[in-house]
Amino acid sequence: MTIPLATRMHGMTTTAIRRALDRPLRADTISLAGGLPAPETFPVDEYRAALHRRLTDTPVDALAYGSTEGCVELRTAIAELIPRAAAGPDRLLVTNGSQQGLDLVARLLLDPGAGVVVENPSYLGALETFRQYQPRVYPLASDAEGLLPAALSEALRRDRGPGGPNRLRMLYLVPTFANPTGAVTSRRRRLEILEVCERHRLPIVEDDAYGSLRYDDVDGAGDAETFAALDTSGLVIHLGTFSKMLAPGLRLGWIAAAPELVRPLHHLKERSDLASAGAAQLAVADLLREPGFLAGHLERVRDVYRARRDAMVAACATRLGEAACLRVPGGGFFVWLTTGGLDTARLLHEALAPRDGGPVAFVPGAGFHVGDPPRDTVRLSFSACPPERIAEAVRRLGAVLDLARAE
Ligand code: PMP
Repeated sequence: MTIPLATRMHGMTTTAIRRALDRPLRADTISLAGGLPAPETFPVDEYRAALHRRLTDTPVDALAYGSTEGCVELRTAIAELIPRAAAGPDRLLVTNGSQQGLDLVARLLLDPGAGVVVENPSYLGALETFRQYQPRVYPLASDAEGLLPAALSEALRRDRGPGGPNRLRMLYLVPTFANPTGAVTSRRRRLEILEVCERHRLPIVEDDAYGSLRYDDVDGAGDAETFAALDTSGLVIHLGTFSKMLAPGLRLGWIAAAPELVRPLHHLKERSDLASAGAAQLAVADLLREPGFLAGHLERVRDVYRARRDAMVAACATRLGEAACLRVPGGGFFVWLTTGGLDTARLLHEALAPRDGGPVAFVPGAGFHVGDPPRDTVRLSFSACPPERIAEAVRRLGAVLDLARAE
């Protein structure tokens, strides 16, 4: 007997990313598929010591129910981490990673049929989360500087104009080292987008999962401040996470927004999980307060990823040709490629099959798109592979591409 499920479950299946990651891979596969933080960067000893201290010194604080908004020690530490974006612990809500932040914000803003404006391609995990609430998702065009303000204005004009549904409720952006493209929205473009959103009172959901992972200024966007730091009208809902800078298993992130938005988000989180895990929050708060810990840790983390980014960009240039790599990212985890017309879902099938040189995994780009996607893009992640493995993986990818081109 089938058990009837809620209508929101209709059509909900494993996401394209999960499908790419979950298939059984041969042991000799090199995976450039998952956007996974490198385990070598996890601050294992420091976290163990901090947790041990908390469980020894203040075990009840660590293990009792905590407050829904998150412990004040952690909110204070986050406010100090992002002073221009948060401006105080009362503007912060601690979340179970930024993925919970996306869900809470979607529940806050989206009725069925509400409009969400996104870049195309966008972070698939956000699109899938939004889809639970049956919105209409409008993909907008971008150029090298980011989402086109004219396209945003046009969407808003259509929405508010005669006969328009008047239902656009939020703009979702990953403006710094985007997943999947690695792109950065320029500072000038951020100000233009803010200006359009302010005129129409359209909230901006800024997903800043990778902002702290800048390696250099090769993309020329080193002066791009967060939307939250540039915002003067309380429209920006800023999502952050410790997943990439510390470790994803902590499941700790935050939402920074105007108090009138944080309060209802707090009500939503209470109905969802009461609170995030207290022991982890206190231990992370202690780590962040340790003089020099975060600066030293981030320097080491950035060194690891910079070497991997360099290895991937160099391998792509020599093995795949300069044109294939659409942009050299100054930070984050991803390089975005185009194959010039070859269907990358088919290429993945070939790349995973047993062959001379060994298999390689990646994510075909189509799944990140809204609407009719181009079939010839690829997201490669350099975060979880040492440089020598990256060079070998790109060599394998090059061999698959050569074979497909020769057909
Ligand atoms: N936003 C973006 C852009 C991401 O890439 C990810 C992780 N892949 C998340 C949010 C969610 O991460 P977490 O919940 O671990 O913070």
